[in-house]
Amino acid sequence: MSSYEQLRQGLSAPICLTWEVTYACNLACVHCLSSSGRRAPDELTTAEARSLIDEWAAMQVFYINVGGGEPLTRPDFFQLMEYAIERRVGVKFSTNGTLLDRAAARWVASTDYVDVQVSLDGVSAKVNDPIRGRGSFQRAWRAMELLAAEGVPFKVNHVVTRHSLADLDRLYERVTGMGGQLRVTRLRPSGRGRLVWAALRLTQAQNRELYHWLRAHPDVLTGDSFFHLSALGTPLDGLNLCGAGRIVCCVDPRGDVYACPFVLAPEFRAGNVREQSFASIWSRSPLFLRLRRTEVGGSCSGCEAYGRCHGGCMAVKHFTGAPLDGPDPECVFAPDGRPGPEQLPISPRPIRPVFVR
Ligand code: SF4
Ligand code: SF4
Repeated sequence: MSSYEQLRQGLSAPICLTWEVTYACNLACVHCLSSSGRRAPDELTTAEARSLIDEWAAMQVFYINVGGGEPLTRPDFFQLMEYAIERRVGVKFSTNGTLLDRAAARWVASTDYVDVQVSLDGVSAKVNDPIRGRGSFQRAWRAMELLAAEGVPFKVNHVVTRHSLADLDRLYERVTGMGGQLRVTRLRPSGRGRLVWAALRLTQAQNRELYHWLRAHPDVLTGDSFFHLSALGTPLDGLNLCGAGRIVCCVDPRGDVYACPFVLAPEFRAGNVREQSFASIWSRSPLFLRLRRTEVGGSCSGCEAYGRCHGGCMAVKHFTGAPLDGPDPECVFAPDGRPGPEQLPISPRPIRPVFVR
């Protein structure tokens, strides 16, 4: 069996496992994929979270992507991360950076198997703050400076939007100039993203521009999130396939297991780790078994680019109401449609104080 076919049919453990440790967040970004803000009252306890890490260690999960909400709002965050490392499960955690202080930067620097990624959605407060909240740019930048001062090879995650694309070169230069690495990801209409999708998503002309920019910057990470653009020519680096339920899954703060962090919807919930082991959900849930058999057909089946694009992202199709077995709504061969509104329909809340330690 080819390695592509092996990945398509699913592996014995996920390669890309996102663990959202809390729904609490001191920001309220307008495109938040998990609509975070308040902690859910029934989030996994420390003991339950440790058992989950034990299971992943037994399954030989190589690393976990830890997110939220804002993971640093969880009082046992450092304790849990140290436990994961002790069990030889590597940690990549994403943070809005506003709560990352010098002590946290030193902890990252002193710890093997920890990777940190700070979210920043513009090269300036003018572009970033309407999305992530007033003052968030300055505080995220401060976090990057603290990490750089400790010699941490941090990453900056940037959700590219209609308003930020023109600044990509500047962002790339500033991040790499500090010793960081840029990661550019796709806006999806998931969570609160549904409300701002029309206003923030790239135009088709911008998608083409982005494809060429990414081809010219192979050192920029993408988390394989633009594989629908590979239909334009030489494929971008990555698997170029929707990995949901095959190699990708997400455990939410309550222990619900979803096919992907961008599809936190009942249709894509495979089970809960309080009722069933993670391993059995991963290997036997009817949802995941079905996703591993799925092939995108519809108008994609006769498309010459199908081998490079594989029909695009399931989450974008689901939340825009497009059929899951048809083309990605941002298929490069689709017409541009009407431009979205210039003003965002919702505003981020200001930063809220949080006491972590
Ligand atoms: S028609 Fe389908 S396979 Fe072809 S480029 Fe569009 S989304 Fe990709
Ligand atoms: S649903 Fe979209 S984001 Fe999720 S794994 Fe598939 S392509 Fe990636």
